[in-house]
Amino acid sequence: MAIQTVDPNTNQLLKSFEEMSFHQVDKAISQASSAFTEWRKTSYGQRADLLHKVATLMRDQKQYLSRLITMEMGKLIAQAEGEITLSADILDYYADNGEKFLADKTLAPEFGQAIIRYSPIGVLLGVEPWNFPFYQVARFAAPNIMIGNTILVKHASIVPQCAIAIEDLFTKAGAPKGIYTNLLISGKRASMLVSDKRIKGVSLTGSEAAGASIASAAGKNLKKSVLELGGSDAFIILEDADIDKAVEWAVVGRINNNGECCVAAKRFIAIESVADEFITKFRDKLAALVIGDPMDAATQLGPLSSEEAAVALASQVQKSVDAGAKVLLGGKRPVRAGAFMEPTILTDLHPGIPAYYEELFGPVASFYRVKDDQAAIDLANDSPFGLGGSVFTQDIERGKRIADQIDTGMVFINHPTWTQADLPFGGTKGSGYGRELSELGIDEFVNKKLIRVSDLSDPF
Ligand code: NAP
Repeated sequence: MAIQTVDPNTNQLLKSFEEMSFHQVDKAISQASSAFTEWRKTSYGQRADLLHKVATLMRDQKQYLSRLITMEMGKLIAQAEGEITLSADILDYYADNGEKFLADKTLAPEFGQAIIRYSPIGVLLGVEPWNFPFYQVARFAAPNIMIGNTILVKHASIVPQCAIAIEDLFTKAGAPKGIYTNLLISGKRASMLVSDKRIKGVSLTGSEAAGASIASAAGKNLKKSVLELGGSDAFIILEDADIDKAVEWAVVGRINNNGECCVAAKRFIAIESVADEFITKFRDKLAALVIGDPMDAATQLGPLSSEEAAVALASQVQKSVDAGAKVLLGGKRPVRAGAFMEPTILTDLHPGIPAYYEELFGPVASFYRVKDDQAAIDLANDSPFGLGGSVFTQDIERGKRIADQIDTGMVFINHPTWTQADLPFGGTKGSGYGRELSELGIDEFVNKKLIRVSDLSDPF
């Protein structure tokens, strides 16, 4: 894939970048590897200082960085500003809490003493997606730099200016060379790097295909991997839900980030007695969205990240209609320049229709009616994915009972799946494995070393 900035609002090519040569990449890995030998000796305080400085620079440059995001992948400008704030919060969170999370854990063996000590493992490779160009990197970089690992980031090819800007922030904050390195290379080359002996672990956020490629390379080379992949979150509306609230959240859950969230609400499942009210209100709100330039504060739905993404989504919708799905709203590309897709609702879906099992990455909602709680749970679980999900009800205990039976990494009651620094994020089934954020996110690429001290009372 060419490494380019193409404005999805106009589909105009703005800037092209040369891929790094094999020699340049080799040098970058060596630099990260020798930086590790020093970085692992630094104190938590020194590492925290670096992360705080990057967070401060990020906040200082919020306007500029937000515009880069919107220009490269089409996110609404206000949401891009929110992403910068969230990313800085994640850096601060690990700077403030990392030492506590990584403190020795004292065990209580029958004889003598034992502790678990957390040590870094070395150079890590992070392969990141375009949909949250700063936030995704922050989730990976902050905990790992705090641990004492050094990192190489292969960012998505359509956000090169964001990728370079993040590396610049680390450089300006005084990071020694090799602590954070951006690799301008293709996805295929990222998979090939996993076999390099200097790289000790790999984390990928992206599609199942890319995840499978990275995971098989990691498995073959006996390296730890973390995968954050796609999702098709169920959004369940029970008959006792506050329907107007559920509708408001349904709109946010589906079209936040122009619909391009792994944890977007994608399958709307309503109990029959409230299904008509919910779907009528939901359709009316989606139909009223103002589509336009994502730099314009009045816009409510911007373009997808690229023309390729919009063509792929429109084709999934068309194939689903050809297989029997009905279109309740939208269904087409609007007649205008740019990578746009109409807000769309599909109904009458069943296995055999592409939209039933596939992830729809854009403003396309699937709608289902079910007779009771069990049918809602069964439908929610009938998915290759297991990332997030929501239950809307005024009976919180009932919501928790349903949450318990949904096979995903996260379930939210009366809210779409969401994220913040101190809550773990990740999935199960085809959505990947491992966790990012919270205390769990700092626990993936560490050596949990047992140190055992014997004393004279130890039996032979
Ligand atoms: P993608 O094509 O898989 O791209 C993601 C990253 O993987 C990019 O840096 C890409 O590089 C790289 N890549 C592509 N093919 C590769 C390969 N064979 N080996 C190694 N790296 C490879 O993903 P996308 O379709 O653009 O992004 C959207 C997907 O990400 C959706 O499925 C979404 O649900 C998922 N996602 C998941 C989470 C989560 O936390 N679970 C968060 C955000 C997004 P190039 O750009 O150079 O191809």
